Amino acid sequence: MLIYNPDAKISFQRYGIQIPSLDSRKTNTMKALREDPELGPREGEWLISDFPRILGREDLERAHTSEYTGSLYGEGLEAALLAAYELVDEKGNYNRYEPENAEKLLAGIVEDVMNIVSGSYAVIPEALKSGFAYFLGGGMHHAHPGFGHGFCLVNDICIALLRAREEGLFHKAWIVDIDAHRGDGTAEIMADHDDITALSIHMAKGWPLDSPQYREDGSLNPSWFPGDRDILIESGEEALYTDRLMDALKEMEKEGTPDLVFVVGGVDPYEKDELPSTSVLNMTKEQMLERDQRLYSFLEERSIPSAWVAAGGYGASSWEIHTQFLKWVLKKRLS
Ligand SMILES: [Zn+2]
Repeated sequence: MLIYNPDAKISFQRYGIQIPSLDSRKTNTMKALREDPELGPREGEWLISDFPRILGREDLERAHTSEYTGSLYGEGLEAALLAAYELVDEKGNYNRYEPENAEKLLAGIVEDVMNIVSGSYAVIPEALKSGFAYFLGGGMHHAHPGFGHGFCLVNDICIALLRAREEGLFHKAWIVDIDAHRGDGTAEIMADHDDITALSIHMAKGWPLDSPQYREDGSLNPSWFPGDRDILIESGEEALYTDRLMDALKEMEKEGTPDLVFVVGGVDPYEKDELPSTSVLNMTKEQMLERDQRLYSFLEERSIPSAWVAAGGYGASSWEIHTQFLKWVLKKRLS
């Protein structure tokens, strides 16, 4: 099933934040799926258009420090947002942030973000019920336990999984993060949770691994926090990407099969992705489809339920990558 609600998003402009809306990635995908002659007439069989908004502060605290969670609900909110969304430049001036143009109080952003987190949670019980579910949203894998980072205020992946585990929905899970960027926040949060194994396959160089591994005071740069399983792809190694991913999954399988796999399905390794930091990884449209199909099939063959979130994808062409996989998988599951 595909889970999508157009209201579960952050309307940055309404808070005076000039981050361009990337809604077209989702709306173009939905349009293409609805216009498909096979899928269109059967929308009720593959689309869930809303989900309960049930996640709150206590859910945040399973993944984040109580100090950071407290800041999001108190006076520390503005500072946390400025950091997570990179709204201050090197000189300390506002960058892309014009509070005088805001229509809404900043606290509304936390509510918007929690709606997205609720979607990332909803995909889990649905996947466990039907075997596969895909939330067209979410994937904020750069948020660390104590701070937001890289446009990610909170880590929806970890918040959702830790709630589901507490509810007894699974005992053992894998996170398979196929976004172009390293899932650095997820690595740090999940380090304390042996029953959730986090794999990230990402660009060997570039953001967030473009700053030194250790800071001047000798402390570890959190973006380099060791993950359970990291696979580094160098520029030019695109053709090896999916084989490497499959090999890693087969290795992980030797330690036992999980009850659930949570896929952070970023489409930013695509060659037409427009975010400058992803320009070193240039997978073709065909390679992207092969990646998604082989990952899906690996899990389906083993009857492992998979819960997917959309994660990164930037520019005018990202929707093509979501669409080609969703058309394939939704039709396969209908027939
Ligand atoms: Zn990314």
